[in-house]
This record gives sequence, structure tokens and C-alpha cells, in this order.
Amino acid sequence: MIYFFVFFICLSLGSFINVIRYRLPENISIIYPRSFCFNCNNQIKWFDNVPIFSWFFLKGKCRVCNIPISFQYPLVEFLYSFIGTYSFYKVYEDKYSFLEVIYVLLLSTILFSISLIDIDHYWVPSNFCNLLIIIGVISNLFSNNSFCTQNIIQALLRIFISIIFYFFIKFLLNLQEKKFKIRLIGLGDIKLFAISIIWFGPEGLLSTFLISIYFALLIGLLGRLFKKLKPLQKVPFVPFISLGMWLTFIFGSQFWVNIWLDFGYSINNF
Ligand SMILES: [Zn+2]
Repeated sequence: MIYFFVFFICLSLGSFINVIRYRLPENISIIYPRSFCFNCNNQIKWFDNVPIFSWFFLKGKCRVCNIPISFQYPLVEFLYSFIGTYSFYKVYEDKYSFLEVIYVLLLSTILFSISLIDIDHYWVPSNFCNLLIIIGVISNLFSNNSFCTQNIIQALLRIFISIIFYFFIKFLLNLQEKKFKIRLIGLGDIKLFAISIIWFGPEGLLSTFLISIYFALLIGLLGRLFKKLKPLQKVPFVPFISLGMWLTFIFGSQFWVNIWLDFGYSINNF
């Protein structure tokens, strides 16, 4: 029963992610005005704004001007309701506190939004990075999960390591860019990796990095195999880092680092 309730909460969060995805890059407030049609500017009535259902009920068209509304709206709502409900299930199952549920829902909502914005615009909004830093520090101090330090000195140490990491990689990237005239990875991506240190500590950075690299390689290989990607084509990387951070939160960094070590061990003994 509780999962049913959570599923509906996540549907509305998914709907909010749609609002963020389209409004933030256009510099429109995400709180006000209420949802309107991008074509005829008519305000959308509440009963036409029910996640997923309204899209099918209206057959993917605006009630007033009949312009087609992208299938991506209900798709994002559906995907997020799955991600959010699964996050809740894992965190609830592991007997984490209610606070943990809030953290994982905030984390997944922000990561999903910035992933979509990166796919659309190759851009990582710095407001959302700052928000992630603040929530990361709070989750470090007030919670009881495996990443939490509950210690102000250790939290400050993580921030310090994360800043050093960011500027060091930025410095290396500048050298690399001067030499090869092409940027390997965006600064927004580096910022997100640095934020994973604040949330999960250095081990969490390792796990986030490994997961994102493996999935990016997999997608890159499949893309080349099916001729969907050109050589050296720019690919948004935030979705992979987000996946890495989310999986690190859900299963813990030790779990992923162990998988990696076992994998290396089995290759060595092959
Ligand atoms: Zn319209």
C-alpha cells in the first residue's frame, strides 16, 4: 500500500522534472506560473495535468490548440516514478531512516533533471550543483547511512578533498586541451565527480567513476556497433555520472568497488 502512495508521489516528482527540464534553460521560474501550453500559452487545467494519464486521455494534444505534446513528457514521468519508487524500496528495505528517503528522492530528482538538461543542451546548471553540495553536506551530518560521517571535521575534510580534486583535474584538463585542441570532459562533469566526494567520500568517487566509465564505454561501443555514433562525437556525460552516484547511494560504494576488484581478480587468473 505504501508503495502505491510512493509511486504517485514519484509521478508528481517526475512531472516536476519535466517542468525543470524545459523551464530552467529558458530562464523561466520553475514555481510560477502554473503549467501552460508552449504554443497557445493557455494555462493547463489541473485535470489535464495529471501525470501520464492526461497525456493518454488527451491523445498527446493540447485541449485548446490541438498542438501535439511530446511523448517524452509521460515517458519521463513513468521513468522517474520507477526510479523513485525503487530508491524508496531499497532505502526502506535496508531500514534506513525516513531522512534517508528524503535524501535519495532529492538526489535522484536533481540528478535526473540535470541529466536531461545535459542531453538537451550540453549544460550543467550551477544552481543545481550548489543545491547538491548543500544537501550532500547536510546528509553527511544528519543521517545514519554508511556514507554519513556525523562529524563536522570529517565533513569539512570531504569538502576540502573535493575542492582540491576539482582544481587539480581542471588544471590537468587545461594542459590536455592546449596539447590536443579537444576537451576530453566538461567542467560540469568534473564538478559532479567532485560533488560525489562530498556525498560519499573518496571511495564513493571511485565507485561513481567506475560505474560511469563502464556504462559510457558500453553505450559508446553499442553506438558505434549500430552506427548511431560517429567517431569523436560529443556525448553528454552527466547521465552516466548521475547513474554512478545513484547506484552508489543505493548499493553503497563498497559493493561496486568489490565487483571491480573481483572482476580484476578473475581476469588475472584467466
Ligand atoms: Zn495549446
